[in-house]
Amino acid sequence: MKSFVYSALPSRVVFGNGTLSQVVQEISTLGCSRALILTTPRQVAQGEKLKELVGDKAIGIYSNATMHTPTNVTDDAVGVVQKLGADIVVAVGGGSTVGLAKAIALRTDLPQIVIPTTYSGSEATAIIGQTENGLKTTQKTLKVLPEVIIYDVSLTMALPPRVTITSGLNAIAHAVEALYSKEASPITDTLAEQGILSIAKALPVIMNDSGNLDARSEALYGAWACGTCLGAVGMGLHHKLCHTLGGTFNMPHAETHTVILPHSMAYNAPYAQEAMEKVANILGVSNAAQGIFDLSKSLGAPSTLKELGMEEEELEKAADIASKNPYPNPAPLEKEKILQLLKNAYAGVRPS
Ligand code: NAD
Repeated sequence: MKSFVYSALPSRVVFGNGTLSQVVQEISTLGCSRALILTTPRQVAQGEKLKELVGDKAIGIYSNATMHTPTNVTDDAVGVVQKLGADIVVAVGGGSTVGLAKAIALRTDLPQIVIPTTYSGSEATAIIGQTENGLKTTQKTLKVLPEVIIYDVSLTMALPPRVTITSGLNAIAHAVEALYSKEASPITDTLAEQGILSIAKALPVIMNDSGNLDARSEALYGAWACGTCLGAVGMGLHHKLCHTLGGTFNMPHAETHTVILPHSMAYNAPYAQEAMEKVANILGVSNAAQGIFDLSKSLGAPSTLKELGMEEEELEKAADIASKNPYPNPAPLEKEKILQLLKNAYAGVRPS
């Protein structure tokens, strides 16, 4: 076996169906008693329910979590934290809400309990992406790693179909890039393969039966596995492109990952054959990039940047940003080839 380095992250995971009931105990175990609940405008009702459950340990709700973690929203939320004297944040929602919890922790050092309701995987990483003046930058620091993750499958049962599919493919993207990362290890390989398998198996079942408890559990477990890979190793071109499209062009996060993934895989395939073989074997196909494209299509996911609202004239600028600062990636980063990748994704061409 090749030698490797793997840094395990100190995070407590509580996984199951109905685990939300343990939130008060988890707040107490962290020595806290003044929880600010975080959520998005769309999930206020879930936030209210959580506040009721937390009872006198809840001091308020901040419900303006926003995709791509804009710093002005964080400023506002930190103001509320200070005004109310919160000693912990409890986030219920997807990556946007978890991102806000992390951004607050970065500035205040408050502990976080996060309760993910999508498959974004952010909860399992010490990474934070923040957007300021149209540019999304990421940093890695243990300060933002949530102390406790409570995965409650019941909270994902009503996740709308489009979010379910695109969020699941967002998770698969973490695992695919982990398989060809320079920092890959047998541990991340195992997690990545398990994560891809769980999600690829679960999504078609969920599409026909959205309340299928086994499939929802499998998908949520897969999200943790893929997120753990994202937190453990460096990502490549795929994530760089999606961050550029999200931060600079305000494209929706999971949908953008879904559209770009088959094309970034095709770009890297000649330089990442072992990783691609693993993905192809899991999907039972001969070509991994086409397998992901076909899976995505069969689930009814968006397949073009055009339908996500990207303007064709913006592709050049996106290719420019994504090829500017060098970062590790299996295939060399060449602006013209990246532009072609984006054109293919814009039109939704099946990768060849
Ligand atoms: P999201 O959190 O914005 O959720 C999408 C929408 O679905 C929101 O309106 C949300 O309120 C709603 N929603 C979520 N769960 C729901 C449920 N169970 N039922 C009904 N509605 C629900 O989207 P996302 O894709 O989960 O997260 C995207 C954000 O996460 C981006 O900002 C991205 O950069 C970040 N992210 C960060 C990391 C990291 O490691 N730092 C990793 C992945 C994603």
